[in-house]
Amino acid sequence: MAILEVKNLTKQFGGLTAVNDLSFHVNKEEIFSVIGPNGAGKSTLFKLITAYYQPTKGSIVFKGKDLKGLKPNQVAKLGVVRTFQETTVYKEMTVYQNLLISNHLHFKASDFGEYFNSRKAREDHKEMERRASELLDYFGILEFRDEQVSNLQHGHLRALEMAVAVSADPEVILLDEPFTGMNEKETQTALEMVRGIRDDRKITIVLIEHDMRAVMSVSDRIVVVNFGGKIAEGKPQEIQNNQDVIEAYLGKDED
Ligand code: ADP
Ligand code: MG
Repeated sequence: MAILEVKNLTKQFGGLTAVNDLSFHVNKEEIFSVIGPNGAGKSTLFKLITAYYQPTKGSIVFKGKDLKGLKPNQVAKLGVVRTFQETTVYKEMTVYQNLLISNHLHFKASDFGEYFNSRKAREDHKEMERRASELLDYFGILEFRDEQVSNLQHGHLRALEMAVAVSADPEVILLDEPFTGMNEKETQTALEMVRGIRDDRKITIVLIEHDMRAVMSVSDRIVVVNFGGKIAEGKPQEIQNNQDVIEAYLGKDED
């Protein structure tokens, strides 16, 4: 069943077409990857899906609902969140504080005056603390709970970003190059986390990644974009043997 549908999506920046009549769908609880050369339009696609950009043409449908006109926070509330190629956490705060902030968005009360100091607020706070610690443990960074984020090593920072994304309790997480700058071992650990998010929490994953080994091992299906348009779509095996894909990659240097 499709949870996310991208239909004839186009995004132009002035004369440049970053995303060009792109269509595909992502099934519920799939790990779906978007690959393609540098500048192919992958990050722009994610920004369109999460409403940071409005499409020039085409539509994005989440669980049958057209996301047209929604604001980024509304899309996040519906259950579609993304991590950024640029980082999404507050560097000058602790690991734990970052989790509490994102949890807050999840537990936000409607009437703040009534809510503040109420029994419900105290219960929610307890629940937030429990959830935050559970997530940090799940992502292997509980021991860094009170560490300032700027002191984290790269792999742990990426783990925190995933924890923050998961703490919003989304149905779909878009991960933009989560394994960048990781060594082999860190990549393996992060891959396990991505699989775990899907397997344990039933969250659908859409992944942009240029580490081909990682992509091929973790993805259920892959769409390949070049110059904003789709050149192939299929299972890892099919993509690996696709002539157009091979040419797109041989013709250009990957980052
Ligand atoms: P990828 O993530 O696949 O490397 P991007 O989506 O970041 O590619 O960029 C696709 C193309 O769109 C590039 O040519 C890039 O320079 C251009 N682009 C991206 N964002 C903007 C923007 N805000 N304004 C103008 N051009 C942009
Ligand atoms: Mg990008």
